[in-house]
Amino acid sequence: MVSLRGVHKSFGDVEVLRGLDLDVRMGEVIALLGRSGSGKSTALRCINGLEKIQRGTITVCGHEVARMGRDLRPLRKDVGIVFQSYNLFPHLTVEQNVTISPKLVKGVDAKTASLLAADTLARVGLLDKRDAYPEQLSGGQQQRVAIARALAMEPKVMLFDEVTSALDPELTGEVLRAMERLARDGMTMIVVTHEVAFARKVADRVVFMYRGQIRETGPASLLDTPQTDELKQFLEHDL
Ligand code: ATP
Ligand code: MG
Repeated sequence: MVSLRGVHKSFGDVEVLRGLDLDVRMGEVIALLGRSGSGKSTALRCINGLEKIQRGTITVCGHEVARMGRDLRPLRKDVGIVFQSYNLFPHLTVEQNVTISPKLVKGVDAKTASLLAADTLARVGLLDKRDAYPEQLSGGQQQRVAIARALAMEPKVMLFDEVTSALDPELTGEVLRAMERLARDGMTMIVVTHEVAFARKVADRVVFMYRGQIRETGPASLLDTPQTDELKQFLEHDL
């Protein structure tokens, strides 16, 4: 479903991804861990075509990202991404925030869009907030709207980049639960997170990045039995 082979990415002289290899199967949930600066966000941005790579190949749902040219719309339809900052449109209601992309990008009609909104908002437990404005919602609710907004494009893969890092601890749980439900429904997901408990519970596989490469990967039990010094140190000190 997602395949990275020998991916190299530099910003100027700084090589951020140094031969990254990663395969994600359909329905698989990957927890991507690593120290600050190890290249996690960059990896997600490359998968979504937001960054150009210098070497290697990235294939996502049959699209070879580097060969797509300028029109990345087919890729963007298949890949949903949610960031730490949710950036909802403040002047649009929850429902309008969720339906704007399907309407504009996919040309979905108003009735279908409304059904899509109902379905995706129900999946994140926010159907009752469809007519609210973002400022009337808590941070956790806003982040769940951002997840619904991504889901409304009916992606095949979802990328999450530290989506709970900006939230108060008491709001983190509701967002993680929404993601857990999504995982159980069979969504293919790559989740960058510092939530080790979430990784243990939800991830099929843990991938530990270190300096732009995968240093260690395995089932969630890896978090209890790290093999490399780098992962040991990360689990002890860097979380
Ligand atoms: P964090 O846990 O702090 O989010 P990360 O693993 O997501 O870290 P990245 O954001 O991928 O790390 O950054 C990896 C390295 O690439 C960092 O050294 C960063 O300074 C550098 N970098 C990222 N984006 C750019 C950019 N647009 N221009 C220059 N350098 C960048
Ligand atoms: Mg990051």
